[in-house]
This record gives sequence, C-alpha cells and structure tokens, in this order.
Amino acid sequence: MAHVLVTGAAGFIGSHLVERLLADGHRVVGLDAARSKRHPAPPHGNLAAVARHPQFRQVTADLLEADLRRLLEGVECVFHLAGRPGVRDSWGSAFGDYVRNNVLATQRLAEAAVAGARPRIVFASTSSVYGTAPVPFRPDGPTRPVSPYGVTKLAAEALLGAYAANFDLPVVILRYFTVYGPRQRPDMAFAKWFAAANRGLPVTLYGDDSRRDFTYVGDAVEATVRAAAAPPGHTYNVASGLSVDVGLALGLIGEVCGRAPAIVRAPRPAGDPAATWGDIAATVADLGYQPSVTLEQGLRSQWRWLLGEADED
Ligand code: NAD
Repeated sequence: MAHVLVTGAAGFIGSHLVERLLADGHRVVGLDAARSKRHPAPPHGNLAAVARHPQFRQVTADLLEADLRRLLEGVECVFHLAGRPGVRDSWGSAFGDYVRNNVLATQRLAEAAVAGARPRIVFASTSSVYGTAPVPFRPDGPTRPVSPYGVTKLAAEALLGAYAANFDLPVVILRYFTVYGPRQRPDMAFAKWFAAANRGLPVTLYGDDSRRDFTYVGDAVEATVRAAAAPPGHTYNVASGLSVDVGLALGLIGEVCGRAPAIVRAPRPAGDPAATWGDIAATVADLGYQPSVTLEQGLRSQWRWLLGEADED
C-alpha cells in the first residue's frame, strides 16, 4: 500500500484513476480545483462512489494556491493529471489559462516536490506534443506541436525534465492519446457525437480522412498505475497502437446507438493534426501494458453510461 496524490482527481480520467488506486489498496489524496472560487464549474468526473472511502481524502484547491508541501508529506507518488485540456480552445485569450494550469501549476508542484521528499511524478501529457511529427509517433522521436495546448504540455514535460536533471526528481511522462469511455469530457468528439445521436441531431466531422488513435479510459488508467513502478526518466505513449479513420469511428457510434447521425462536413480546425497514431512498443516492453478494450467495446461502455446504466467496465 502506498500513499499517493492524484491532481485533477475529479476530472474524467482522474476520477477513474482514484477508483482504481483505492481498489488496489492505496491511500489516496485527490486534489482538484473544480467547484473552488477560481474554478466554480462542476468537474467532468464523479467521485461519489469513493467519497466515503476510508482511504480517500478529497481536497478542493487550486495547485497554484494549495499548501503543496503539506499535501506532499508522506506521499510516494504524485499522479499529476490536473491541467487545462483541449486543443481547439487554446488559441487567443484562453492561452493564459493554459499556461497557468499546465505550466505554472506543474512548476509549483515540482518546486514543492524537490523541497520535500521528492516523490515520483507521473505526468499526464498528450499526443498533442507530436503535432505534425511523422506517424506512428514515437516517444523518442520528434515533437512538433501545432496547438498552443500542445506547446504548454511540452513545456511542462521539459520543466519536469529540468527538475529531474538538477534535483533527481523521479519523473515518468505519459502521453495520452484521445481517451474515451464513461464520463468523457463533453467537449470531446465521442461525447458530442453520442449526445447528438441521442437527440437525433447532426454531427460535424472536421477535415477529410482524419485519423485518431483512441484509448479506452480503463486502459489509460492501467498504464498510469503501471507507470508508478516504471523506471523514471522515461516517456511513454498511452494509446491503442491503432490509427482509426474518424468517419469509421462515427459509423461505429451509429451502430452502437442504433441511429446513425447525419453528418455535416467542415474544415479541420486550427491546431488539429490530420492523424495521431502512437507507437506503444516501449509502453508494452517496460510497463507490460496491453490495450484490452476494443473500440466497439469501449463505445458500448460509454453509450451504456450515457444512458444511465452505470456499467462502466
Ligand atoms: P478533465 O478536465 O476532466 O480533468 C482535469 C482536471 O484538472 C479538472 O477536474 C480540473 O478541475 C483540474 N484542474 C485544472 N487546473 C487545475 C489547477 N490549477 N489546480 C487543481 N486542479 C486543476 O480532463 P481529462 O480529460 O480527465 O484529462 C486529464 C489530464 O490528461 C489533463 O492534464 C489532460 O491535458 C491530459 N490528457 C487528456 C486526454 C484525453 O483524451 N482526455 C488526452 C491527452 C492528455
């Protein structure tokens, strides 16, 4: 049993991770700014199932304001998922918010970590750091982000690298690829498409022939938990290892819902790469990670959740 801190605990991926860590017998502090003064909106995740778990403590606070040194006391591993996600919103005046929550928050966490007992940091980065790099994206290959969001996450990766190099902070970087499943953020494509299909509304498909590597949230959580025992100083893709035509994925959603939504085509928005595809050889070799949920199984799970059947496995 370990004492761990999950930042972004109330979010989509964070809430699944907290449930898994508690089920594995760990003592978990879950920090999230959602519903705080600065971030009044409700979170995307749901911690109701674990709220009264004796091994869980929920802290509602902003990473930029929280007493992190005290929160890190006795903590062996930090799963750092807090941040501002989303490619398309990261242009214009929102950029300051991305810098604040992705870069400044990470720097403050790293400072507190090296001032204390230097817990391991498992950092939730993104496939967006690759941008227009050649596919399949390799963790030891080039990074060419094409969105401000990707730039802030790459900056956070580099910052953690600087703390690792200078202060022996043990860091593992995970680059998540389009995670989906129950509680998926409502701004993400599958969540929008399911909602549209459910209401009989058309969906917008951006760009021709876009391809994405989709990762089921249970698989993403499995890789994240395994990263706590991985050799520090490494970067891993958390992906399915398959690049799927986005139009095909939409067709699958139509089958799962039993009603195919009408499609409105629009040009690919700024910041969206044409394709993502993660090379997972290192994740498989070092973490023993194997994606276990097919796209169809994962979509059925997300649809059941949306319908309120609460079957999230
Ligand atoms: P999410 O928005 O549901 O969760 C992020 C959580 O972080 C939110 O609950 C938010 O309140 C919290 N947060 C943000 N800034 C904070 C701060 N300053 N202090 C404390 N809490 C703060 O997003 P998600 O989809 O669960 O993503 C989790 C992480 O994984 C993010 O860092 C995201 O960039 C990364 N990621 C997600 C995906 C994906 O497909 N969902 C893909 C790549 C990377």
